[in-house]
Amino acid sequence: MNIYFNKPFATGKELAYIQQAISNAHLSGNGEFTQKCHAWLESEIGCLKAFLTHSCTGALEMAAILADIQPGDEVIMPSYTFVSTANAFILRGGVPVFVDIRRDTLNIDETLIEAAITSKTKAIVPVHYAGVGCELDMIMKIAQRHQLLVIEDAAQGIASTYKGKPLGSIGHLATLSFHETKNVNCGQGGALLVNYRQLCDRADIVWQKGTNRTQFFHGFADKYTWVDMGSSYLHSELNAAYLWAQLESATAITQNRLNIWQRYHQGFADLEAEGKVRRPIIPPECQHNAHMYYLLLPNLESRTTLIDKLDACGINAVFHYVPLHSSPAGRKYGRTQGDLFLTQELSDRLVRLPLWVGMDEYVDYALEKVITIVRQL
Ligand SMILES: *Cc1c(COP(=O)(O)O)cnc(C)c1O
Repeated sequence: MNIYFNKPFATGKELAYIQQAISNAHLSGNGEFTQKCHAWLESEIGCLKAFLTHSCTGALEMAAILADIQPGDEVIMPSYTFVSTANAFILRGGVPVFVDIRRDTLNIDETLIEAAITSKTKAIVPVHYAGVGCELDMIMKIAQRHQLLVIEDAAQGIASTYKGKPLGSIGHLATLSFHETKNVNCGQGGALLVNYRQLCDRADIVWQKGTNRTQFFHGFADKYTWVDMGSSYLHSELNAAYLWAQLESATAITQNRLNIWQRYHQGFADLEAEGKVRRPIIPPECQHNAHMYYLLLPNLESRTTLIDKLDACGINAVFHYVPLHSSPAGRKYGRTQGDLFLTQELSDRLVRLPLWVGMDEYVDYALEKVITIVRQL
């Protein structure tokens, strides 16, 4: 038995769409498939404007430019996140300010944000961990009170909602990832979603390498020229064609993942009742997308033993983020607000289990092995 941690799902239509992209003889991006994906994101997520990018990392970098981050500006974010959340801002000279997470969702603790705000704060970056929404109502209120931008890192959050609204439709800006480890994937890819009307035109310019290409193309500018800072963020049409097949099946993908997630969740109920693990907690205002199934073990030692013993049974389980504030670059470029006690504690205890479309037949085996091993710890 060998159960991969992740296996990227393909719907079966990807090759036909890539073939069509080749026939269209336009491969460099912003062609038919890019526009189909944009229209889907704008209608299904309900954002004002969507821009496909080569990665969520690229979309976060666009967001940092749009937030006009200058050297010394501060950006509030959790330490319990992927490096790109912080890198995007330090590339502009910004300073990540790391705030602790909530014990239930492992998302940024919204009650600690206000204490981290200074005269240099420009933005708040809530990360929707495991596709479970942050407490966005309160975060948006804080941002409004202090005139800050909210940039949702919704890399894991496609097809999830908070109080009925899709993640990515609430913050001024939001980013998605289509990396092969995410629910909807095209190998490498991402999107910047813009919900703040004042930033739509500039987002297009930054996306088009700092040129007014789009305005020129539509006849709104009389020459095509360099007008602002920008870079090469577009996604190739080949990737967009692949992604289109996935977006068309997004509902089915989410449903299949939710079924597996639910089987894990029910299967571990007794272990939780015995006090041996803690299962994920989904607040009632959040509908999630089963991006991840994780368990919290009593401590680092039990987590390590579980991963090793699962590996011996052919089950590839993994830990997740090393908190950024404790990493060499995090110490160099960031600062912390408070002691980040829960970030350290929960990241040491967390183990992620395999979860991918098509693994249905392996779930019972994984459940049985985890339960047996945890009871012996
Ligand atoms: C995956 C991920 C990213 C980066 O996505 P890429 O598309 O690989 O650049 C950023 N933030 C979070 C929270 C992620 O999970």
